[in-house]
Amino acid sequence: MQYRSSKQRKRILELLRSTDTHPTASWIYDQLKGEFPALSLGTVYRNLRILQEQGEITHLDFGSTFDRFDGRMEPHYHFVCERCGKVMDVMMPVLSDMETFSCPQVKGKVLRHRIEFFGICQDCLKQD
Ligand code: ZN
Ligand code: MN
Repeated sequence: MQYRSSKQRKRILELLRSTDTHPTASWIYDQLKGEFPALSLGTVYRNLRILQEQGEITHLDFGSTFDRFDGRMEPHYHFVCERCGKVMDVMMPVLSDMETFSCPQVKGKVLRHRIEFFGICQDCLKQD
């Protein structure tokens, strides 16, 4: 599907490319509302959905109440701190063999996989 290019969408993408914090839609809204007075949280969500469809960003679903978004498109894994909720990139080699190994079990075609590590981040450990 083709979308008219939008200045807001371009800025949302730039913002996501410039951070590794996997922000929420409301964080993005807070960053850009000064620049675009007509912006609403709904518009941010709509543009995020379009960017996702275009393969420019990914949506991280951790089953939490907040949707997180990621502008880093090379395959990678994530670590989630169970204390503060921080989501960090884990740049270890992507285990593409796992997809091959899982095929006989699935009897279909495995296209991708996700791995998330959970624990306590360095900052939270220091507070102990
Ligand atoms: Zn933490
Ligand atoms: Mn990431």
